[in-house]
Amino acid sequence: MAKAKKYVYFFGAGKAEGRADMKELLGGKGANLAEMTNLKIPVPAGFTLTTEVCTYYYAHGRKYPPELKAEVNKAVAGVEKVMAKKLGDPGNPLLVSCRSGARASMPGMMETVLNIGLTTATIPGLIRLTGNPRFVWDAYRRLIMMYSDVVMEKAAGLEPAEGKGIRQQLERVMEGMKHEVGAKTDTDLTSDNLEKLCACFRAKVQEVIGKPFPDDPQEQLWGAIGAVFQSWNGRRAISYRRIEGIPGEWGTATNVQAMVFGNMGDDSATGVAFTRNPATGENKFFGEWLTNAQGEDVVAGIRTPNPLNISTKSEHTAHLKSLEEAMPATYKALVDIRNKLEKHYRDMQDIEFTIEKGVLWMLQTRTGKRTGPAALRMVVEMLRERLIPKEVGVTRVTPAQLDELLHRILDPKAEKTAKVLAKGLPAGPGGTTGRIVFTAAEAVAWAEKGESVILCRKETNPEDVEGMRAASGILTALGGMTSHAALVARGWGKCCIVGCGALHIDAESHALSVGDTVLTEGDWMSLNGSKGVVYAGQLPTVDPDPENPMLVEFLKSCDAVRKLGVRANADSPKDAAVARKFGAEGIGLLRTEHMFYGEGADEPLFKLRKMILSNSLVERRAACEELYPYVKNDIKGTLAAMDGLPVTIRLLDPPLHEFVPQAEDKQAELAASLGITVDDVKKRAADLHESNPMMGHRGVRLGVTYPEVSEMQIRAILEAAAELLKAGKKALPEIMIPVTCTVAELTNQAAIIAKVKAEVMAKFGLKKLSFLVGTMIEIPRAALTAGKMAEAAEFFSFGTNDLTQMGFGFSRDDIGAFMPDYLDKKILAADPFQTIDQEGVGELIKIGIERGRATRPNLKVGICGEHGGDPASIHFCHKVGMNYVSCSPFRVPIARLAAAQIAVKDAAGKQPAKKGKK
Ligand code: ADP
Ligand code: MG
Ligand code: MG
Repeated sequence: MAKAKKYVYFFGAGKAEGRADMKELLGGKGANLAEMTNLKIPVPAGFTLTTEVCTYYYAHGRKYPPELKAEVNKAVAGVEKVMAKKLGDPGNPLLVSCRSGARASMPGMMETVLNIGLTTATIPGLIRLTGNPRFVWDAYRRLIMMYSDVVMEKAAGLEPAEGKGIRQQLERVMEGMKHEVGAKTDTDLTSDNLEKLCACFRAKVQEVIGKPFPDDPQEQLWGAIGAVFQSWNGRRAISYRRIEGIPGEWGTATNVQAMVFGNMGDDSATGVAFTRNPATGENKFFGEWLTNAQGEDVVAGIRTPNPLNISTKSEHTAHLKSLEEAMPATYKALVDIRNKLEKHYRDMQDIEFTIEKGVLWMLQTRTGKRTGPAALRMVVEMLRERLIPKEVGVTRVTPAQLDELLHRILDPKAEKTAKVLAKGLPAGPGGTTGRIVFTAAEAVAWAEKGESVILCRKETNPEDVEGMRAASGILTALGGMTSHAALVARGWGKCCIVGCGALHIDAESHALSVGDTVLTEGDWMSLNGSKGVVYAGQLPTVDPDPENPMLVEFLKSCDAVRKLGVRANADSPKDAAVARKFGAEGIGLLRTEHMFYGEGADEPLFKLRKMILSNSLVERRAACEELYPYVKNDIKGTLAAMDGLPVTIRLLDPPLHEFVPQAEDKQAELAASLGITVDDVKKRAADLHESNPMMGHRGVRLGVTYPEVSEMQIRAILEAAAELLKAGKKALPEIMIPVTCTVAELTNQAAIIAKVKAEVMAKFGLKKLSFLVGTMIEIPRAALTAGKMAEAAEFFSFGTNDLTQMGFGFSRDDIGAFMPDYLDKKILAADPFQTIDQEGVGELIKIGIERGRATRPNLKVGICGEHGGDPASIHFCHKVGMNYVSCSPFRVPIARLAAAQIAVKDAAGKQPAKKGKK
């Protein structure tokens, strides 16, 4: 018989039923509260209702499993025993919080209610017990505010108009009270003020919601539990999940936990901290705290929080007292816990703590979100500290984070001369420039028009996430490094500045001002998110530094772990040099036609056109001879730049008509040079017209029709190599024949190669000339006949752009008309031109490799399509046993990382599964 499901897990008094690795069941918060309890870290007792309660709740028309009630009652009794207090006991009341906690952290997306258990019956008891009426009324007004908002309004499905929500209405009541009694901050309100405020709050709740505020602890508790489960399907949470790709089926857990109070006076406090700096990665305990406050005050930015310690004070916070100075003994206890947590979790933790009358309590720990630069620095330093092994280190930086480091920044030169508009806290990395918008909706609307926008807000809240996503940068006037905007931006690696105090935002009139400067919607602004500097106007941005020492050290660890080689697609000596800087181990694709585009291409292009428009062998040979030196020098430059690393050179690939001149003057010039009339030029060009050029006279087909064109290119490659060898240098060319579909094409071209090789060796007096001959596999037939192809090819390079085009029968240039619908309607899970379609195109690749290696076991296999820089596709390339991937030079570091990560994952999968400890 199956064991009955357990729905409630207890933690308290140094012992917990859960563990950190039970996140799926207990949610991140619950699992880590259990883990900390087991580590003998002081955690207020409590219990977790599992995510299975949530899934049951939604599967059964919002009803709980029948056995839940008894389990909760038992757990409440457990908490009462540990805390020596009782829920609802007028003489000695226990208060609890009810906290949501999903598997993946969703900051601020779901609901938490504090101070549950305060009622007209328990309030006098608690006042007597604490001798602190001010604290009790403060706790009660918070309960009313949170509970009426979360439980009575949101969970009940009420959707009040903008500004009419109960929380805002109560906030206005409170502002009114502060004004009336002349209180500047919340802490200035006296006990009497607060008692009166609570009465006003209850009246307001009755008036707005039409129901009395519940005065029964059990009703409060179950109301809050229900609201947490309801909040899983709240609008904000759904939208956040969609962006983050968190499945709706996961469900959230709910934690009920005995309250500890940071608002009991000046010997009480609350704070949040990171075991290392989440913005820079620096190994310094970093955080913010407030005296006489409850948890949410720090995050909400109601008061400017104080710095945690002396060493992390900034120019903005230098005048504020740190916890280290205010409560040295408690700070020391916190540092000990920090050290214990880092050693245990072996990663940077994001923690919440509360100090009640000098006693420290931990309320949360989780792996902290961090910027890309911080992630990198932490890994490199933790590797040096031997806190983690390489195999773990390489998994700690995501490809997206690495991408941030390779991100654009504001041009430092321009920054030097630009006038600083304002300064704030550097909350999200990189630099960006964009046009100012003031609401999330505007951000989305402008971004849809293709504009880069900067979302400027007083502060952000979870309702703004879609706009924050759409914006290229975020700027807020309020909030600290742990504010909502900072947390979200850091998670996404988005450029963000918070707490920019000089900024006055008037969202209604769509304007912001700093001193005398006024900017309105649509004006340009630039942000340096790494330093926290704001500029008016549009500053240029520049590419990042590939020689960043942390990056180099980290990527070395990746290289030590990965099995897959990484090359770059590069077409010129300049690209080749960049590729080497980023760590490319060769060039996987050099497109010879590239020399006919862009800078300095005029002369070779003219010669190429002559060759294309030649209509006799004699003419064409003469044109090839003229073209030859350009081709050879171009290739030689790149071979030299790669200094002995392999360079795969692809023979001419595109359909020739792409190069035919359209302009009259160019046609006239060509006519003169060829000794024919302009009309003849036009006629010859017209003859090259094809109705389906992608599948027309291109690639190897040109070489079959015009062997002299292949011969010229092959000679250029081999003589370039020979000249380098003669000069005492190294060169390792790989001749790649494109668009093949049968081995006969390869043997046809191989004959030319053999002939030229003999000639070049004789000419240069060489005994040995090493190079490889291979082919692109980009036509399905080539993949299927790979066994034969490998008879003539020493390497395969999968041209996955064309292979996808021909595998799907999707014209690469025309997918815009239907791909969005295919993705929307989930006919395809992803655009196959961005990430390899493993099921179909991937099958062609697998077959190609298997059959190719059956013929030639040491067949070298790589990929040179756009997919070579896509992490998911790189994982696939590893799994099917390719030797290397090749991608654009700037993606090379990402490919090195992705290759290392899949190697680690692969090795872990091959180890016998570890048994979970009981
Ligand atoms: P979030 O996921 O939004 O951070 P939490 O559940 O962590 O929500 O709670 C919000 C705030 O309330 C946090 O600052 C937390 O430390 C504080 N808090 C939660 N439960 C308690 C408790 N039992 N005693 C004291 N403070 C609490
Ligand atoms: Mg929290
Ligand atoms: Mg191709």
